[in-house]
Amino acid sequence: MSGQPTTLQDVIDGGLCVGCGICTSLAPAQLTMTLSDRGDLRPQFAEPLSPEQNALLVDVCPGATAIGPDPATLEAGTTLDPIWGPLRGMQRGWAADPQVRFTAAAGGVLTALGQFLLDSGRVTAVLHVRTSPTQPMLTDAHISRPGDSTLVAAQSRYGPAAPLVHVQQLLDAGERFAVIGKPCDVTAIRNLARHDVRVETQIPYLLTIFCGGVPNVTTAESIAKAHGIEPDEVTLFRFRGEGWPGPTRVEAGDQRFDITYRQAWFDRDAPWRYDAQWRCKICPDAIGEVADVSVPDGWILDADGKTTHNEAPGVNIVVERTATGSELVAAAIAAGYLETAECSYEDFELMHHDHHNRRLGEPARLAALKEAGTGEPRVEHYRLEEMGELAPADLLATQFEGTLDRIARGQAVL
Ligand SMILES: Cc1cc2nc3c(=O)[nH]c(=O)nc-3n(C[C@H](O)[C@H](O)[C@H](O)COP(=O)(O)OP(=O)(O)OC[C@H]3O[C@@H](n4cnc5c(N)ncnc54)[C@H](O)[C@@H]3O)c2cc1C
Ligand code: SF4
Ligand code: SF4
Repeated sequence: MSGQPTTLQDVIDGGLCVGCGICTSLAPAQLTMTLSDRGDLRPQFAEPLSPEQNALLVDVCPGATAIGPDPATLEAGTTLDPIWGPLRGMQRGWAADPQVRFTAAAGGVLTALGQFLLDSGRVTAVLHVRTSPTQPMLTDAHISRPGDSTLVAAQSRYGPAAPLVHVQQLLDAGERFAVIGKPCDVTAIRNLARHDVRVETQIPYLLTIFCGGVPNVTTAESIAKAHGIEPDEVTLFRFRGEGWPGPTRVEAGDQRFDITYRQAWFDRDAPWRYDAQWRCKICPDAIGEVADVSVPDGWILDADGKTTHNEAPGVNIVVERTATGSELVAAAIAAGYLETAECSYEDFELMHHDHHNRRLGEPARLAALKEAGTGEPRVEHYRLEEMGELAPADLLATQFEGTLDRIARGQAVL
């Protein structure tokens, strides 16, 4: 597969699938989400798609189509930051409920916002993900309803997760719901809005994280094996949370093993790797530019401005991107669900310098896909020209060569 895909099979063959699940929601007779041999969630074909279905699904698929914020339609009061996208407000934040703050991935802002949306009657459902109750290393799409605690879906799942498998079902049922997911999950909903007018009124809130990429399930399996536990013996697998960042915990019956966040993701000698799927390595938007609110970690900085991952009460950064997002955050604070503190733009940049460089390198990564003639997504309104001008030449060269090298080593697959 070379160039931009024209069929869903092209998307998969070109290594562009992110595993969001929206295609299976829109074509349930033809597609189901299945764990691939490599350990990623991918659509599997029961029947071929019609040409009309292929055209729709390629345009909705976030792996194939990533359309960023259009400067022409920016809302009043919004700044379009060249690196960070639409910004209306940015503050440190955490859930006011101490249990949510402790249990969640970071400060519990997403869990608290989901709870506020349900309790206030603004939505009839929140679509997100949770640990599979039967297979602790896997992740299931989950619908929280009024009266439920959104805490059941708290914490980050660093593995395959397809929250969008229920989108069509919720739309058809006339529900008004929020989606909490990765930036590409949000992109899929914005893409769908171009084809289904119900999205605007029925999915009024889109909330997301900053995203370093999704590894396949073998990463969790390797962590378990390093503790001497076989995957089928695992009774609990938690990537983080229960503290901030909290331990990566594996349990098998009464055996319990913890490693720190740094050991889990920064130890180069570890027998496991945070090896994100191919599409994540060329991702044009891992910071949720088209969400209403993006909620990364609010990492503590040391005296040199470097991020520490020392245990502390959880803190997020609450990045308001739309008027809807600003109104939601203000209402959740007023209703006592969120607490906030000031965050400077400079601190935010230091906390998320990895994403800063990733944004700048995107034009080089996309150019490498073209050069190699491999599958490439349609990317619009992500200020690629501006990135190319802002980026240091050596960063562009490294990203270009690195991407070509990865393609040559056969990584641009599934
Ligand atoms: C794969 C991955 C990569 C990440 N990379 C970064 C990063 O580079 N920088 C950064 O600052 N933060 C990153 N995070 C986000 C961070 O871990 C926190 O999730 C985020 O800051 C929100 O914190 P919270 O306390 O508000 O979340 P919580 O209140 O715990 O809520 C988390 C919400 O996200 C949903 N969720 C969890 N995992 C997934 C998933 N795999 N797919 C879809 N939805 C999911 C849950 O269902 C829940 O609703 C990443 C998270 C994941 C899952
Ligand atoms: S990214 Fe989502 S829509 Fe695209 S092929 Fe994969 S599961 Fe389907
Ligand atoms: S890095 Fe990008 S493509 Fe990968 S999961 Fe995150 S948002 Fe989706």
